[in-house]
Amino acid sequence: MTIAISEPIEELLLELASRLKIEYWFNETPTFAIMSWLRHRGLCVYCDRSLVATVEALRTSNCDHLLPFCRYPMLDSDTLNRVPACRYCNQLKRSWDPNYEPRVWDPSMTPLSVEAQRELINRTREYLHRRRDEDNEKFTAMLPKWDAALRSL
Ligand SMILES: [Zn+2]
Repeated sequence: MTIAISEPIEELLLELASRLKIEYWFNETPTFAIMSWLRHRGLCVYCDRSLVATVEALRTSNCDHLLPFCRYPMLDSDTLNRVPACRYCNQLKRSWDPNYEPRVWDPSMTPLSVEAQRELINRTREYLHRRRDEDNEKFTAMLPKWDAALRSL
């Protein structure tokens, strides 16, 4: 799949990044991050939250390594291994590896294909869905204690 960079969108993203001093778009090749954003329409690939809906969402967004950098440094410059993600999903995912058996990717398949990317994103979405449920359960269980502690102040 070839994505043509839309010049108005590229200019808009660069202007936003410059005005807000969002440096990671410049630390990496700007085109690299922009391609990833355009491919996924500025949505977190894991939860579909818009990363440009608010300045906070934009500022806290990440260009995530779909296959974690610590285990797959050879994919660092593969644009399909970099995906836009919100901070919450990125923090929950950390270095979790979606390339479990049956493996979607091995070093002979460089670069990542669009199909492999889609499957890895789907695996990660399922994993993060479970993690969000666990997170909510733990958080909700703590609420009465938290409320009681605040009332006692
Ligand atoms: Zn997300």
